[in-house]
Amino acid sequence: MNRENAPSAPDGTYDVYPAQANSEPWTRLEGWLHLERLVRGVMDRYGYVEVRPPMFEHTGLFHKSTGEVTDIVEKEMFTVPHKGEAGDRDSFTFRPEVTPGAVRLLVQNGLFKVRNLWKVWYLGPAFRYEKPQKGRHRQFSQIGVEAAGSGDPLLDVETIAVYVDILKAAGIARFDLRLNTMGCRDCRGAYREALKAYVAPTLAQRCENCRRRFERNVFRVLDCKKDSALNEAAPGAADHVCGPCKEHFAAVRAGLDLAGIAHRVDKRIVRGLDYYTRTVYEFSSAALGAQDALGGGGRYDTLVGSMGGPEVGAVGFAAGVERLFIAMEAEKAAVPPPPAPDFYAIAADEASRKEAFRAAQALRAAGLSGDLDFEARSVKAQMRSANRLGARYAVILDGAEVAAGKVRIKKMDGGEERSVPLPEAASILRGGQP
Ligand code: AMP
Repeated sequence: MNRENAPSAPDGTYDVYPAQANSEPWTRLEGWLHLERLVRGVMDRYGYVEVRPPMFEHTGLFHKSTGEVTDIVEKEMFTVPHKGEAGDRDSFTFRPEVTPGAVRLLVQNGLFKVRNLWKVWYLGPAFRYEKPQKGRHRQFSQIGVEAAGSGDPLLDVETIAVYVDILKAAGIARFDLRLNTMGCRDCRGAYREALKAYVAPTLAQRCENCRRRFERNVFRVLDCKKDSALNEAAPGAADHVCGPCKEHFAAVRAGLDLAGIAHRVDKRIVRGLDYYTRTVYEFSSAALGAQDALGGGGRYDTLVGSMGGPEVGAVGFAAGVERLFIAMEAEKAAVPPPPAPDFYAIAADEASRKEAFRAAQALRAAGLSGDLDFEARSVKAQMRSANRLGARYAVILDGAEVAAGKVRIKKMDGGEERSVPLPEAASILRGGQP
């Protein structure tokens, strides 16, 4: 095959593999393993349990929950027609976000019959047909939580605290948290009218997107990057929402103060999706450039009920993993190396290669980790591999030793070589003594 027709991954996707010089931060396997571990650690500390909804759902799920007048549903869905099997009502769509699937999972599996409040988390891919650029992919990954079953403002605060802890554990110190309220079903109408009255006289000056959205989803006009100057004096939701929504917002802010989490109110935060009620928030980082959103979330008090679950409040966030890696790199956050193997088995001559394999198998069976040469290389080259992998011990097999039923072990960071029977080698390697 010539180079021109060698396969390449689709635009907007990327591969993950052990880090190489100059590899992009989001492709580095070590970063992923580190982040997955630390996220799980934070979630465990807060009592969130993992859920794994499927990668694709019925398309209607996203139309109904994410919302018809959103960039995601209007332009960015990876939709696959069904092939007419019995029971398929709808096409399928690769999830552009995980919240609808996670909430469906809770309701469909009857989990609210077991417990009123579910605090769940996920980490996995999402798919959006966007124009790829740095920090924006067509297959990207999100970390998120959904805390469903309570309207308590402290739960809003807790979801924010979870993400703050993830950022800190990842070594990201520079980030901004901005929040706003969208009001509830009862009061949003009044705010919508106030906003429309403000926007209407400027409509002719606004971008095509905003003109189109004015009727169907006027809130989106506020987060338009092109027309931000026109929005400076726009009314903020916080002044227009009802008393209980104001109280909720004040309680969230007080809770954030209690938790020592710096934040500011920003009336332009409206979040793109339909299901948000009351609190909405966004994390951003100056380290990220044009795509500066590190994550965002909010409360969605009607979503669980709209899927046939109980009428309970819920709140959650989703954060882009690739952007976390970019911010980590910008802040020079340390990524620990993967654990070193216990041994590298070295064949001193061609005749000992089988014995090296047998020794490696016996050590692996004893629970130790290690590797060996498969290219019939010199002892020196095998030693280099042992060093490169950071193996703790070299386990050397040569004819004389093998005949005596022994192996030679050498601690890689210095120390004498010792000749011992294999079972003894295993226990030394396990105990770590020289
Ligand atoms: P959203 O719900 O659209 O605000 O998405 C939540 C988070 O996911 C954003 O704050 C980003 O960090 C991340 N994100 C969204 N879309 C993409 C994308 N196409 N590529 C990479 N990250 C994304």
